[in-house]
Amino acid sequence: MPDVILRLALPSPLRRLFDYRAPAGMKAADFAPGMRLRVPFGRREMIGMLVEVADHSEVPADKLKPAIALLDPVTPLPPALFKLCLWTAQYYQHSLGDTLSWALPVLLRQGEPAEARQERFWQVAPGARMDDARIKNAPKQREAMATLAQHPHGVPHQLLSKLGLNKTSLDLLLDKHMVEIQVRRHAPGARHERWLAQPELPLNPEQRAAFEAVRAGFDTFHAFLLAGVTGSGKTEVYLQLIRETLEAGKQALVLIPEINLGPQTLARFEQRFNARIALLHSAVNDRERLDAWLAARDGEADIIIGTRSALFTPMKNPGLIIIDEEHDGSYKQQEGLRYHARDLALVRARQENIPIVLGSATPSLESLHNAYTGRYGLLKMEHRAGGAQPPKFMRLDVKSRPLDSGISGPMQQAIGQTLAKGQQVLVFLNRRGFAPTLLCHDCGWLSECPRCDARTTVHQRSRELRCHHCGYVEPVPRQCPKCNTVDLRPVGAGTERAEERLSILFPDYPVLRVDRDSTSRKDAMNQLFATIQKGQPCILVGTQMLAKGHHFPRVTLVSILDADGGLFSGDFRASERMAQLIVQVAGRAGRAEEPGKVIIQTHLADHPLLVQLTEQGYFAFAEQALSERRAAGLPPFAHLALLRAEAHKPGQAEAFLDEACSAAEQLLNDLKLGGIELLGPVPAPMERRAGRYRAQLLLQAGARAPLHRLLSSWLLHLEQMPAGRQVRWSLDVDPVDLY
Ligand code: ADP
Ligand code: ZN
Ligand code: ZN
Repeated sequence: MPDVILRLALPSPLRRLFDYRAPAGMKAADFAPGMRLRVPFGRREMIGMLVEVADHSEVPADKLKPAIALLDPVTPLPPALFKLCLWTAQYYQHSLGDTLSWALPVLLRQGEPAEARQERFWQVAPGARMDDARIKNAPKQREAMATLAQHPHGVPHQLLSKLGLNKTSLDLLLDKHMVEIQVRRHAPGARHERWLAQPELPLNPEQRAAFEAVRAGFDTFHAFLLAGVTGSGKTEVYLQLIRETLEAGKQALVLIPEINLGPQTLARFEQRFNARIALLHSAVNDRERLDAWLAARDGEADIIIGTRSALFTPMKNPGLIIIDEEHDGSYKQQEGLRYHARDLALVRARQENIPIVLGSATPSLESLHNAYTGRYGLLKMEHRAGGAQPPKFMRLDVKSRPLDSGISGPMQQAIGQTLAKGQQVLVFLNRRGFAPTLLCHDCGWLSECPRCDARTTVHQRSRELRCHHCGYVEPVPRQCPKCNTVDLRPVGAGTERAEERLSILFPDYPVLRVDRDSTSRKDAMNQLFATIQKGQPCILVGTQMLAKGHHFPRVTLVSILDADGGLFSGDFRASERMAQLIVQVAGRAGRAEEPGKVIIQTHLADHPLLVQLTEQGYFAFAEQALSERRAAGLPPFAHLALLRAEAHKPGQAEAFLDEACSAAEQLLNDLKLGGIELLGPVPAPMERRAGRYRAQLLLQAGARAPLHRLLSSWLLHLEQMPAGRQVRWSLDVDPVDLY
């Protein structure tokens, strides 16, 4: 009999498969790719996923161990999803086993059966009669029988009390064999006949054009960029496209950014449709996640909505993918498997041969470039659906003007005038805490994190200095640790300070702060928004949490306290992010009758990108920024990969990267690859973080193919390098943050 060798992907960082013998007595025909097996690994056991079955192995026969058990009678992973995971592992140069760990529900990785939860159902036993003499004088049991009789498919155990069913009575009936318990899975809800639970809005001409364009491409892969200003009614377009998808008997996958997870977004989908909606996001527990995953796989969910990782949800009848706010940073995973869900969604749509819509008021430069070069259909919606006017932008030059807790005189006046008119003001400052640092006025000491190359932020309310990079916390000192004087002053302003100052300047109006510190309590954010919706004049101060998802119709002034960070930064994407934030924050304002005004404080009032943005709008800005990227040979006109390393001792990370760099040069030579530049190694922009010294090596290539050829050989080499054991290293393909 030929050997049956099972090639498995194991949750290990090593970029290779592991060979095992089949469990005793099993034949090749018993296995299919995607099945899970329990196997011995060192002194532990692991759960691996079968990639292929072979009849011989390079591993010597006496080293080859048998797998312990096959966990799945049939493969739990549809071939399309398996293919996507293979593609992902290869593209991001990540081990397949670890890729599968990131992509699959936790319970599947832990070996749980790939089946929906079993439940206990109570039902009337066959042959039991209401007029049974034994319950003639037992009114509670008779009542319970009557209730159960109304549910011919049984009542799930969980719902007993909701239906007023008394457990004691049921137990007595059970003893008499008048009721019985069945253990089975929840029967899936049936597909609905009428999908709409709520009438649709009649589309305006811009919406209709976008809708029709996508619908015309419904039967095959087509990518569209729906570039619609905030309030242009993108969501209505999504909803109607989803309805079309459902009517065609197919499923729709909708990805949303983490920050949009608020109940408002989900409610819009739930209110519109009589559909089975599967939710996959961070607040869903492991069991619910697996159930949602299985429902989607088996065609028992019609709409799948989730954050980044929901991209890996299998679908029985995929019909449409929507990526809302496609520019959002949360689509990129920054640890482990460093994938970009938007980019992978395109790969998936192509593999499944279905349309995909990327929507945003401020598309990423990558997606815009793809639209301008014809790879995506460009659908523009330039008017607000409700007829509201677009906001007006103004740059306020604060060079040599005194700033009072970050707020200039003219800005204070504008805020006062708006409040006096009975309207609301939104003050945006993307920096939480009271002040970004504490300074000794006598000796110049600055509060620094002992574990990072960074200042600690003053948090006034908790009287703490906190490092926003590593989480380090200490009490605010009473006197200077260096010279002992007591003249310590907070320098600069964060949201706490702006809030405090505004409360003093405008004592007659409520000042509400929205940032991660103020809204860590679960409902705090929703309570805040309820107050705002009431419409009384007030000031809202907040970070980028204010920029997404919410509508503030009574806000007519948006004050942006600091736009300069995005123009000074060494990160080439900083200006893009700043522009997106400004436009998104501005988009919250003036949605109803009253047009909005946006005032931007800046020291760089003549900066061409800022001028373009404020005078010509986001797309003019984007064109300018794209031409700068082209000139500098940066993405999307080049492709990047970043090798990061960190170590406890200074110099170790660089030493590893130096060796890695030489290896890459050698490989470039051996493989005769050109057009790839190795930049570095250099210390990371923040060299020390959480006590580790960090460095990086950037690879920049004009074309993707040679870069990926280099990477796949290079990484196998790096895995073998002894210097790699002294450091923590990782590769980031298409990095978003170059830190
Ligand atoms: P976006 O997602 O582009 O920011 P929304 O879909 O949230 O925009 O729409 C903004 C507002 O306009 C919402 O209150 C929505 O109900 C309304 N709206 C959208 N489409 C229409 C339409 N065709 N007619 C009237 N109102 C609309
Ligand atoms: Zn001092
Ligand atoms: Zn720190």
